[in-house]
Amino acid sequence: MSSWVSGAAGSGFEEDHLPYGVFDAGTGRRVGVRIGHDVLDLAAVAEDSEVSVLLAAGTLDPLLAAGPAAWSAVRSLAHESVTNPARRGAVEPHLHPVDSVRMFLPFTVADYVDFYASEWHATAVGAMFRPDADPLPPNWKHLPIGYHGRAGSVVVSGTPIVRPRGQARLPGAAPTFGPTQRLDLEAELAYVVGTGSPLGTPVPTEAFARHVFGVCLLNDWSARDIQAWEYRPLGPMLGKSFATSVGAWITPLAALAAARVDPPPRTHRLLPYLADGAGLPWGLDLSLAVEVNGTVVSRPPFATMYWTGPQLIAHLTSNGAALRRGDLLASGTVSGPAPDEAGSLLELSANGTRPVPCGGSSRTFLLDGDVVTIAATAPSTGGGRLRLGEVTGTVRPARD
Ligand code: CA
Repeated sequence: MSSWVSGAAGSGFEEDHLPYGVFDAGTGRRVGVRIGHDVLDLAAVAEDSEVSVLLAAGTLDPLLAAGPAAWSAVRSLAHESVTNPARRGAVEPHLHPVDSVRMFLPFTVADYVDFYASEWHATAVGAMFRPDADPLPPNWKHLPIGYHGRAGSVVVSGTPIVRPRGQARLPGAAPTFGPTQRLDLEAELAYVVGTGSPLGTPVPTEAFARHVFGVCLLNDWSARDIQAWEYRPLGPMLGKSFATSVGAWITPLAALAAARVDPPPRTHRLLPYLADGAGLPWGLDLSLAVEVNGTVVSRPPFATMYWTGPQLIAHLTSNGAALRRGDLLASGTVSGPAPDEAGSLLELSANGTRPVPCGGSSRTFLLDGDVVTIAATAPSTGGGRLRLGEVTGTVRPARD
């Protein structure tokens, strides 16, 4: 049954999508779902139901922790609210135009991990920085490489990004400290963990959907000059941790059922704990678009990602590390094989040597005032296409 909410049809936010967010329409933070160009105050609609306690706190945290049966019950309630004509009179007063509300980071980010799951991104970056060696490190096809990031600097879409300062060193010069000259974007998808797992108990790939609540877009802002000077031997540190933006809307896994596709063919046999399981695969056919100042500079295809969400979870917990409610696991930069499918300016500009046309201008790296927006669409269960909540941010000058 289609939604009775006007504007829902064809919007990418139809009744088969219903992503979750936290908004304020003037009365404080509320849990809502997006439908068309509106947000439905789900907490208000659910007030007399048995799931009301999961929605009453002005954050998704209680819902995330409640697990798959509760996720399914709440999704059914949301779906029924926006499709059943008999409910229209009771539900309609709780719709707010999405342009009229303020959106917040919808859950408490626990641990943030950023992976490196695109073979095309890893190959391009490897060829750039290690031209004399194999572009993929020897471990790359055997495990999803990642690093532990900084949860406290994750911000919601729309938050301004202040150009970071840091230490860098140009070739042959002494180290300097100042505003980054090589501010970049990284287009990524992030998995949001709902149900945690105990320390000491690895989570197998087949348990993925019992732990992961949904996904959102993520921009892993990166200061390439700071990163290049600091990253050996322990990996990214301050070049990444000044800000990470996430979309305001969390798309539940159930909404992505029609987007599930096989991951790319495996060129190396995987160890049993990482093996692609039987049943529906967890590659995801998401089409990303990266915009700089309103011009699309790249269209990264997520279906080309080598490592799937279940493999990221299985690897992260394979040593017994616990999952916690609100863990944010980012895919790593999404890049496809074609030059206009790369998810970073580092790749698009060939390490700053080939300016990328955007609008009437061009960029190698980001300038103050630039607006970066990452969007994505995917096949939806109703036969159309859903739109993930976009992630956007404007670059502000470094602070004095
Ligand atoms: Ca990244």
